[in-house]
Amino acid sequence: MFNSLSDRLTDTFDRLRGKGKLTEADITSAMRDIRMALLEADVNFKVVKDFVARTKERCMTAEVMESLSPAQNVVKIVLDELIELLGSTESKLVLSNRIPNVIMLVGLQGSGKTTAAVKLAYLLKKQGKSPLLAACDVYRPAAADQLATLGGEIGVPVFRGDGQNPVEIARASIREAVDHMRDVVIVDTAGRLQIDEQMMQEAVDIKKAVKPDQVLMVVDAMTGQDIVNVVSTFAERTDFDGVIISKLDGDARGGGALSVREVTGKPIKFVSMGEKPDSLEVFNPERMAKRILGMGDVIGIIEKAQEMADVEQLEAAERMLREGFTMNDMLDQMRAVKKMGGMKGILGMLPGGQKALNQMGGNLDESIFERNEAMIMSMTKEEREKPSIINGQRRARIARGSGTTPADVNNLMKQWGEMNKMMGKMRSMTQQAQAGSGKK
Ligand code: GDP
Repeated sequence: MFNSLSDRLTDTFDRLRGKGKLTEADITSAMRDIRMALLEADVNFKVVKDFVARTKERCMTAEVMESLSPAQNVVKIVLDELIELLGSTESKLVLSNRIPNVIMLVGLQGSGKTTAAVKLAYLLKKQGKSPLLAACDVYRPAAADQLATLGGEIGVPVFRGDGQNPVEIARASIREAVDHMRDVVIVDTAGRLQIDEQMMQEAVDIKKAVKPDQVLMVVDAMTGQDIVNVVSTFAERTDFDGVIISKLDGDARGGGALSVREVTGKPIKFVSMGEKPDSLEVFNPERMAKRILGMGDVIGIIEKAQEMADVEQLEAAERMLREGFTMNDMLDQMRAVKKMGGMKGILGMLPGGQKALNQMGGNLDESIFERNEAMIMSMTKEEREKPSIINGQRRARIARGSGTTPADVNNLMKQWGEMNKMMGKMRSMTQQAQAGSGKK
């Protein structure tokens, strides 16, 4: 499940990561890829449209685009939005103090209702409950037999009534539970291949008769675009409390699973990942979103990196003192300055800075940053790390590559020379201080 969606999203993120700085066009193109990937996974088109719009809006901010790792930020936003789409937090099965509690399952035929009833019984039994299964699907002849067989396998009794109608069976199952000290009744209702009025009315009548604590709708993960019609009708008529997504282990594209929360506003409570009784899992939006995005704990790493920003800066400063000031450091510094609102922004925040700015007529040529950045980007790795190797020939090449003049490159070299000299002075000062305090 979700494999091809996962692959496509991972490719999109890899392309973004390869870019370093992101333009609006890069983000637009990534959002287009995400949109296509979701549509191909059969996620409802309206859900896709809203999802992409929300995600794009959050990605298109200066804060994201000009950050030190814009691609990582985009990935984090997509993850956040996906978690949100799936319901944010775990939604537990709500049981009351009433004995017996009643859980009623609804859904289309073949959606996996009967199997889900058994899995739920198994889960509750493991939690120390004593469930009773009630077979209220009297139309599919094998349904009650199937429930009886599966119930037998997990040691949970099945109540199938005595030729009564489904509402009577449901009602009688409650009495049966009281008589036999069972504390949860799981009512399996009938489904049809398509929604029909009689089936809906029957579900409504059963609900009225047994007043369930929880009504859960079972939705096949393979349901595609049609999901809106199916779940909306069930929501309107049965007002279910939550959803069980079945068949999430298959190779279906999973669009139904991704759309259902947004379409119904109801939480996904469980997912079923196989035919065996123990294959029902409590649904966790974050884990599912990470699974879809092919992530281990990348987010943890990103969050750490954010926390570590200061430590990184300290380390960079130490390295500069030790090894000298490189063009990469210069680039980092310029970008940091730009992020803080440019020279103007920083100067404006310093005491007396605003006055100085006013005296200059408010003018400060910030385009020098753009030019410097373009020149550094045109240097080879070796040149950036060891700017002293940049001779006349290299200067001419860098100027050509960055659309500047050799004089501009000279200026940049001069600035670098000044910074490096200053770094050298600081180095000898720290060395002297260390020697003075007896440290090596
Ligand atoms: P119902 O008509 O809604 O009661 O559906 P059933 O419970 O009879 O399930 C229909 C078919 O789907 C059966 O063959 C089940 O074994 C199968 N099925 C149900 N849930 C799952 C699941 O999570 N994974 C897989 N692989 N098959 C499932």
